[in-house]
Amino acid sequence: MIRRFSYAGSPAQIVFGAGSRNSVAEWIGKAGCRRALVLSTPHQRADAEALAVEIGPLACGVFAGAVMHTPVDVTETAMKVAADMRADCVVSLGGGSTIGLGKAIAYRTDLPQIVVPTTYAGSEVTPILGQTEAGRKTTVRDAKILPEIVIYDPTMTYGLPVSLSVTSGLNAMAHAIEALYARDRNPISSLMALEGLSAFKRSLPVIAESPEDADARGDALYGAWLCGSVLGTVGMALHHKICHTLGGSFDLPHAETHAVMLPHTAAFNAAAAAPELAAAAAIFGGSLGGGLWDFARAIGAPLSLKQFGLREEDLDRAAGIAVENPYWNPRPIDRDSIRQLLQDVWQGQRPAG
Ligand code: NAD
Repeated sequence: MIRRFSYAGSPAQIVFGAGSRNSVAEWIGKAGCRRALVLSTPHQRADAEALAVEIGPLACGVFAGAVMHTPVDVTETAMKVAADMRADCVVSLGGGSTIGLGKAIAYRTDLPQIVVPTTYAGSEVTPILGQTEAGRKTTVRDAKILPEIVIYDPTMTYGLPVSLSVTSGLNAMAHAIEALYARDRNPISSLMALEGLSAFKRSLPVIAESPEDADARGDALYGAWLCGSVLGTVGMALHHKICHTLGGSFDLPHAETHAVMLPHTAAFNAAAAAPELAAAAAIFGGSLGGGLWDFARAIGAPLSLKQFGLREEDLDRAAGIAVENPYWNPRPIDRDSIRQLLQDVWQGQRPAG
């Protein structure tokens, strides 16, 4: 039986295909813009400068100062550069950190955003911005934050190191798993989530062996679009809450934390959301948590929290923060069960469910 649902399709323009980065200038023009500021992290500066050259006269400059967690002072510096250069749009080339900077600028100025994603985190298709000020991370959701044009070019991900490809892919898969049991899910979000999981199940093992495999890179980026899209449209639960807690309070790395947590949060919710997760479990061999853990191990993903420097004595505080603000989850949450879950993840144990 089809449940009651409401559904709104995203207004974003999605352009997909190997070589589609060549169409960035064309899309700047279609957006009615003439002066694009290209954004990147310091690490991807050379790629951003090359893209600015390709864009030609429609590019007005490069700002290569994006950093993790979108600090407000970096946004203010970038906005000053954008104003000095009279930029009328931004082109964000990179992963969630660079896309976050473009969103932060758009949130304040409503400048159109054109995004060329180079990881699988999915921020490019969500209206959500997380930013930090004075050590505090806050999240806002606003229509102005959603990038108008996303250009997915798999060739831009060939250089994504295998370790980051694997953790970023698992980060994306976590959006899909939580979308499957979201209270506000709809038939389209569930189809997209399952298709996204299948795309990563096919592609990540190939990428781990052959990082420049064109078909696998295309498949993974396709999965990133699908998984990011569901993150942008339905509510997330335990998994995202715990990763937010660990990232924000213990400064743990973003994609790696998602990768390590996913098999355990999936196992935690497996029985409570069995019908919703059945098709995902089938993709991973029948047992969702254990199957995801085996998959993660086979592709060389990190498996324990302890390897990121989290101390065992921090687990009590982490469990306390994770249950602080009550939030919906298919299986009710209490401090003791979350404490046990964190212990298992810290040790890197294979989950049973
Ligand atoms: P990232 O953007 O921080 O990138 C990690 C590093 O990899 C950077 O140095 C980057 O320059 C480099 N890199 C990226 N792509 C590369 C490539 N193709 N080749 C070589 N190097 C490359 O990593 P991320 O995991 O994509 O983003 C994490 C951030 O995004 C976090 O702050 C997270 O909170 C945010 N995020 C936000 C949303 C949202 O909807 N608001 C969704 C997902 C993630």
